[in-house]
Amino acid sequence: SVPLAFFGGIGAASSEGVLVKGSNYLEQLSKVDVIVSDKTGTLTQGKFKVNEVIEVNGKKDEILHLAALAEGYSTHPIALSILDAVGEDIDHSLVSDSRNVAGQGIIARLGDDLLYVGNKTLMDNHHIEAERIDSYETLIYVAKNTELLGIIKISDAIKPEARGAIQSLYKNGVKTFMMLTGDKEEVAKHVADELHISKYYAELLPGEKVEKVEEILSGSHNALAFIGDGINDAPVLSRADIGIAMGSLGSDAAIEAADVVIMDDDLSRLSKVIHIAKKTLSISK
Ligand code: ADP
Ligand code: MG
Repeated sequence: SVPLAFFGGIGAASSEGVLVKGSNYLEQLSKVDVIVSDKTGTLTQGKFKVNEVIEVNGKKDEILHLAALAEGYSTHPIALSILDAVGEDIDHSLVSDSRNVAGQGIIARLGDDLLYVGNKTLMDNHHIEAERIDSYETLIYVAKNTELLGIIKISDAIKPEARGAIQSLYKNGVKTFMMLTGDKEEVAKHVADELHISKYYAELLPGEKVEKVEEILSGSHNALAFIGDGINDAPVLSRADIGIAMGSLGSDAAIEAADVVIMDDDLSRLSKVIHIAKKTLSISK
């Protein structure tokens, strides 16, 4: 049977805005020593802003407009920023097919043309000539068929509470805090430097995030938590000892797959819940 203290612990977590889906996760949280984190929407606000459009073979308005058409069905924070920058209503019915390539971007059909909107890897994989630009902004390449039209520079602000939240995790028994991201190296390095995160891996596909987590899981550790908004990341969320999703940004699938949900996305709630878990376990013994 489940000791009464666990109900108290789950209740206390819930008053902190954290949904813990079972007493076993409270127990795992009390032992957590490794946290693996996604970047976008977890350490950053997940609200990108379009800063600049670089014209290559297209004009600014056309580049943004075609990107917005391709992104019309995506709920990725990148898609929302592009739709926001265009402002006006887009006639999404013009797009007959659009496909999310996880960790790379979108491919959409517009009449007889194919639109490619995503990172450099997406361009490389479809033999679209695109230059690599050195910048700690995220770059979204926009191409029609084999021609690169332009590059949209976007950026996402780091959450104000993130640095303090990571510090208090270390004070609560966490030994390793690692960031995994599909975004490019320079962006990852910038965020890692700002947040004093010593370990990070960039330019990972969702499958490679799973491989990294499995590598750590096979080594010595007490409990591994993965925290993310879960967009593109549901597999890694369910593979971790404890999968933690952001409640307001996370997709329904992610919230479903998660063991723990931070309802308002405030990262500092995590160390509070670990503290509650430790207290609960000490009472129940
Ligand atoms: P993260 O690890 O930061 O959460 P994702 O795995 O969701 O990132 O995406 C990795 C990269 O793939 C993004 O930085 C972007 O370059 C590209 N990408 C993913 N989804 C989209 C999209 N809807 N539109 C354009 N690019 C995308
Ligand atoms: Mg993500």
